[in-house]
Amino acid sequence: MLMLMLAVGFLNACSKDESGANISSDLQPYFERFSTEAVSRGKNINVLDSDLIASLSIDLPPTVIGQCQHNSAKPNEIKISLKDWQKFSDLQKEYVVFHELGHCILLRSHTNEKNANGFCTSIMESGGGVCRMNYTTSNRAVFIDELFNN
Ligand SMILES: [Zn+2]
Repeated sequence: MLMLMLAVGFLNACSKDESGANISSDLQPYFERFSTEAVSRGKNINVLDSDLIASLSIDLPPTVIGQCQHNSAKPNEIKISLKDWQKFSDLQKEYVVFHELGHCILLRSHTNEKNANGFCTSIMESGGGVCRMNYTTSNRAVFIDELFNN
């Protein structure tokens, strides 16, 4: 009887894990931050409730910092370069996570719109140098507004 109860408890634990997102612990705080920023703008998004998979990776091409893979047969998957992640500041980590979630969760594509001074106006810039990125603690809120309102 005790054996049976343990087995049932174990099964419950397993099925609970499989229903949520699978996000590596290094990335998790930034995914939670994305959800918080969404909710504060009236968007009811909880990334941890999605079936997203996200991990730090050592097998991305050298020029790729992060990517979101769409596959109709599988959950969306984000990979972020481990080498770049280890060098990044908190703000740079936020930027790359928010960009990839822009693709994977908000289904946004790239935009290289720029202001009169040539600076990018969106986190969803392509990274090709068409516009210049200047993402700081004092202007991040403007970028995050743009991210969730387009
Ligand atoms: Zn992108």
